[in-house]
Amino acid sequence: MRRKLIAGNWKMNKTLPEAVELAGELKKQVGNVNNVDVVLCPPFPMLFSVGEIIKDSNIKLGAQNLFWEEQGAFTGEVAAPMLTSVGCQFVIVGHSERRKYFGETNQTVNRRIKAALKFGLTPILCVGETLEQREAGSMETVVTTQVKEGLADFSADEVAKMVIAYEPVWAIGTGRNATPEQAVEVHSLIRELLKSQYGADLANKFRIQYGGSVTPQNANELLQEEEIDGALVGGASLKADSFVAIIKAGELLSHA
Ligand code: PEP
Repeated sequence: MRRKLIAGNWKMNKTLPEAVELAGELKKQVGNVNNVDVVLCPPFPMLFSVGEIIKDSNIKLGAQNLFWEEQGAFTGEVAAPMLTSVGCQFVIVGHSERRKYFGETNQTVNRRIKAALKFGLTPILCVGETLEQREAGSMETVVTTQVKEGLADFSADEVAKMVIAYEPVWAIGTGRNATPEQAVEVHSLIRELLKSQYGADLANKFRIQYGGSVTPQNANELLQEEEIDGALVGGASLKADSFVAIIKAGELLSHA
């Protein structure tokens, strides 16, 4: 069975002292977690310090974005080898906030994933429809296109190294999570697509996280679904107590 993956996306939150405090508290409470994978994704300036705190624990480090070039005159951007040099193993790519506010497209997502894989980072590809798209009946088309175009030209071996997070935009930061049934429907759709493109073996092993207002209150019902391989958590990852509760739910429900 697939091991669950719980990732905390801190977004643009936490100063250095706050980040150090949260990482320290998480290490104390869940640093030896071993039935579930846990990843912290702090803002870029905090990666090194958070990485230093968690490096001798089972918690892993991830970034929230990366640029596709390896180095050069790209003011304000951060490259894959920089991320690996500070201890990152994961990187979120194509988060809906990047798509909405920073012009991210499936094509730029694809280039970022390529760079991540080249340097051994595990990309967490975010996909998901807006409320308008869901209400217009185009959820399936939107998600399918995001997956197909995001993964364009990758081999099965490359795709096997990735994670997808289904994050319906209407559920992110709204307090309105998808029901387990809604999430399972889309996860199954994505898994079927992976199966048709890369084969049943890959699809059965592939991890698809759910993200969108995951809290300690709804984590159990979501994570107990076999089809839901973990959570990408925003707001509830900013406090040790709530993130630990979600990790514990994942740990109990992991079929490692
Ligand atoms: C996210 O940022 O990926 C997210 C799911 O946020 P929240 O948990 O706050 O909805």
